Amino acid sequence: MWQEINKPKMATEKGASRVLTLLGQLERLNEDPKASDTDATRQITGKILHLIQTQEKTRKEMVSKGSSGMEVILSFLENTRDLQTTMNILSILNELLTVGGGRRTGVFVSKGGTAILLQLLVSSSKDIPLNEELMLHVHSLLVKVGPKDRKFGVKARLNGALNVTVNLVKRNLQNHKLLLPCVQVLRVYSGNLVNAVSLGKSGALELMFEIIGPFSKKNTTLLKAALDTLAALLKSKMNARRALDRGYMSTVLTIYQDWHRNDKRHRHMIIRKSILGCIKNFTNIKLGRKAFIDANGMRILYNASTECLPVRTLDPLVNTSSLIMRKCFPKNRLPLPTIKSVYQHALPHIPAGGPVAQLYSQPPGVDDVVDESDENEATEVDTENDTENEDDETDHKTQNDDIETDINKLLPRQMQTRPFDELRVYERFCLEFTRDFEDNDFESHGSVMPPTSVEPDLHCPLIIPTMLASISPQNSHPQNIQPPRSNHSPLELDSISISKTLECKHNPDLVCSLGLLVLDGGVSVNGGSGGGPQEETRDQAEIEVPDTAALLPLHDPDLYLEMVKGTRSVPAYTEVAYPDYFGHVALNLHEPILERVNGVQRTKIFQDIERLIHPSDILDKVVYDLDMSCPILDNGESLKFNSKFESGNLRKAIQVRKCEYDLILNSDINSNHYHQWFYFEVGSMRPGVRYRFNIINCEKSNSQFNYGMQVLMYSVQEAISGSPQWVRTGSDICYYKNHFSRSSIAAGGQRGKSYFTMTFTVTFQHKDDVCYFAYHYPYTYSMLKMHLQKLSALRTAEIYYRQDELCETLGGNSCPLLTITAMPESRSNEHISQFRSRPVVFLSSRVHPGETNSSWVMKGSLEFLMSCSPQAQHLRESYIFKIIPMLNPDGVINGNHRCSLSGEDLNRQWQNPNEGLHPTIYHAKSLLQYLRATGRTPLVFCDYHGHSRKKNVFMYGCSIKETVWQTNVNTSNCDIHEDLGYRTLPKLLSLMAPAFSLSSCSFVVERSKEATARVVVWREIGVQRSYTMESTLCGFDQGKYKGLQIGTKELEEMGAQFCVGLLRLRGFTDPLELHNSHLEDIENDLVDPCSIPNITSSTTHLLEEDEPVFLEEVDYSAESNDENEPDLQDNHVLPDPSSDSELSRQDSLT
Ligand SMILES: [Zn+2]
Repeated sequence: MWQEINKPKMATEKGASRVLTLLGQLERLNEDPKASDTDATRQITGKILHLIQTQEKTRKEMVSKGSSGMEVILSFLENTRDLQTTMNILSILNELLTVGGGRRTGVFVSKGGTAILLQLLVSSSKDIPLNEELMLHVHSLLVKVGPKDRKFGVKARLNGALNVTVNLVKRNLQNHKLLLPCVQVLRVYSGNLVNAVSLGKSGALELMFEIIGPFSKKNTTLLKAALDTLAALLKSKMNARRALDRGYMSTVLTIYQDWHRNDKRHRHMIIRKSILGCIKNFTNIKLGRKAFIDANGMRILYNASTECLPVRTLDPLVNTSSLIMRKCFPKNRLPLPTIKSVYQHALPHIPAGGPVAQLYSQPPGVDDVVDESDENEATEVDTENDTENEDDETDHKTQNDDIETDINKLLPRQMQTRPFDELRVYERFCLEFTRDFEDNDFESHGSVMPPTSVEPDLHCPLIIPTMLASISPQNSHPQNIQPPRSNHSPLELDSISISKTLECKHNPDLVCSLGLLVLDGGVSVNGGSGGGPQEETRDQAEIEVPDTAALLPLHDPDLYLEMVKGTRSVPAYTEVAYPDYFGHVALNLHEPILERVNGVQRTKIFQDIERLIHPSDILDKVVYDLDMSCPILDNGESLKFNSKFESGNLRKAIQVRKCEYDLILNSDINSNHYHQWFYFEVGSMRPGVRYRFNIINCEKSNSQFNYGMQVLMYSVQEAISGSPQWVRTGSDICYYKNHFSRSSIAAGGQRGKSYFTMTFTVTFQHKDDVCYFAYHYPYTYSMLKMHLQKLSALRTAEIYYRQDELCETLGGNSCPLLTITAMPESRSNEHISQFRSRPVVFLSSRVHPGETNSSWVMKGSLEFLMSCSPQAQHLRESYIFKIIPMLNPDGVINGNHRCSLSGEDLNRQWQNPNEGLHPTIYHAKSLLQYLRATGRTPLVFCDYHGHSRKKNVFMYGCSIKETVWQTNVNTSNCDIHEDLGYRTLPKLLSLMAPAFSLSSCSFVVERSKEATARVVVWREIGVQRSYTMESTLCGFDQGKYKGLQIGTKELEEMGAQFCVGLLRLRGFTDPLELHNSHLEDIENDLVDPCSIPNITSSTTHLLEEDEPVFLEEVDYSAESNDENEPDLQDNHVLPDPSSDSELSRQDSLT
């Protein structure tokens, strides 16, 4: 019994000890060459081989930790001169490395096995006759070892192994048994670019083409190896050129077609994929892309892919084909005469340097839409000379290079830039600090700025000719060749009409009623459409303005029109968009973030490629064009577009197919880029038809449209029938790089850049509707003026409300400044003194016109501040609010996305604002300087923004310590004392506001943000709690609203919650209230960084984008690195949505 039980164990020990014994014997033989006995070594190695072939345990023991088995074997391989022993050892190694994965190979590599094998290869290659068996063994081993040895390519070259293998292939093209491992080893050699070049010179390319042939079920493994080797060789541009010279592009395409045709059961998908891999590498160079087009590659791959589409398992083929076709798609120019904005505004003076100066200094006649050379081929030539180290780590991306590391730039800089005497003029904005409250003050306080006069004035915008005028005078903009017509001039703004594009014949009742919406007998621009008799029209019913008064207390259509008359736009708009006139009632139902559907992007791209394959199907009919003066002919078959109204932004619409339109957005005025915001009107639609819209000149490299965001649509028919509201709409939405090349002039000097397409599909519900599309909920300047008038009317005896004009903008519009606080309880000294000692809170918004969400948040804050709730009264009693609700009225009015009329981003001008060019920033900053000089430095400064790349609402603040922690530079500076109070408000907001996400907040100061309001107000004015508050344009991925898109209700709620947060903050900052020990505890909890573990240490820079990487790559380029391409087997693996992979894109909206 006892013996039987132990039998297996005994056997194990016996087996193990046997191989150890044999290795020991081998070791002794090796140490003493004199004693070497060929027979003995043959015998011992033969026994080891037998053990290894039969016992997995033995294999394990050979490479287990502490075992010297591998060393002994390798050392013997290196020294033995006996062929039989060598063959035994090679067989042992083959057995060892065949199973057990990478670890055993790792041991082999770490013990220097690669070099020993390569030396053996080279020395045996000189044997005559050549020992084929030995060569086969060595190559089989190299195939296994090569991919695991990072230095393999270099070792092979230095040992002179490359030519040995090439020569073997040359001499054994029919000997498939030996040929296969040799070709496989060539593949591994070619992974090194220097080797690839060398092998190319030795004729390896031609050799591969002798192996690769038409469809055959035989030798597919060899064929695959040859194709992969060819693909690896073609990564060298020199080789690619050599192969193209020999006409191999069409050969490869023919081979692909042959396999596509004959591989009917799709058994050989991986071979077809390998052929595509070769084509892809060919097309990395310009010459290759040209050869591809010349060889009809587009049509070949397109047709093959179309046939593959229904078979899901062939997706990898379709995806690779799509990638190649996009790379080779000829770059087009945008169909524009110039990329400069259609409208120009004469500046008081031209900035000394920068993009605007560049724009002005550009000589006339320059075609700025495309570059002379689209790509820099020269840089491609010599990248191969410098690749000796390519085996080393590729790129150490220093993602933190935007963090401010200069401690001097983080320390307060409170030098007085303007003498106090100059600042004294700002006293008029701060009357509440000095005024003695007479009795009648309690009656007449809160003077409201008089409505802007509509009289003739000198601020009528001057329009300077665009480039277009000098290129094609007959097509130029009307303003270029004639003085502003009287009915377009701001002098007669009474002639405002409601824009409309309805067809009378379809629905006379509706149209006629709409036709009556002409103000003061003015002329309707599109009115009547020439269809309906005017007399009858006037007799008929009135327009049904939706009765939204109860729902929209701050909206009044008539008041809105009054406000519009005082708004000065560069294009001198005479039309009003319906949504702005009717108003928007926030939706009650929540709109979920769209699920991302795989394959949408591919389908859209194939439709784009079809334009090239079937050019005759493309209509290319311009249906809307701001650059053209002559009216566009209409045959009733196309949609009608319009955006000639406040905040409108559409430059051109081109009907490309029956129900598909390419849209081009206008640049910001006095600029040649910044395309993102859009707002336009569409009419003449047919209901139930799917229309595809493509905005083709987007610039950002990614968009929330790829992560579930939808566009906004407003239907006039819906509004009239009781639902006046913007709703999220659109399907098949995606955002991808297109084939329109960007001029380096507008791409910061970078060449070879492309635009992006944002595409969406809409089915309209109603016949004879007029619909509006917008990037986000519009909020015009006229709307702000209307809201302010309505708000001022809410003022009660308790509320101190004053509206001043901070300054006039370049465009001649007023920039309002509000002061809101509580009236002193009485004229007693005590109450007056309490009134004057209230800390100041300074709020601003909408410096970036495209961030309309910031205006809705501001609306929420203002409504809360003017409300009669006890909380609001307490808040007013706690602070004096200074609010600039719109820092960039001109940008908003003229449909800009980012800039003011000076063509500059105003939130980059806070360090040195110019009074003439950036008046709102200049005076806002001066007012802050005045407050500081008079001892009233604000307790909180917050500038409201929108964020296009992230979800939720969050804040950026400023902290020296958190910035220094990020950099690890000069850690001794961590001794700097810093009050942690800047964390309190964001923490409070995260506890109260469902939209707010603390984990997205950051308090790091970046170099690129040093001229923003947040950083300048922090450093120069000394406001410790200086923030930007960023609201998503898309939706939420946390909290109560998780999974929903954001609406105006949530934005306004956030604005109100911000006020409540300020009220709570009062408890932490008021010395009288701080004695409350309960509050002190919370304060300690709030300000202790350890208690805020959720705040990520990332910078805003790193936080730009936090969406999971999606399977469908957004990006592609001529030089795309195919290593990132999902491998065959990975193709159905979906990304982990919880992973927070960051793409760290640069261009922030902050
Ligand atoms: Zn912004």
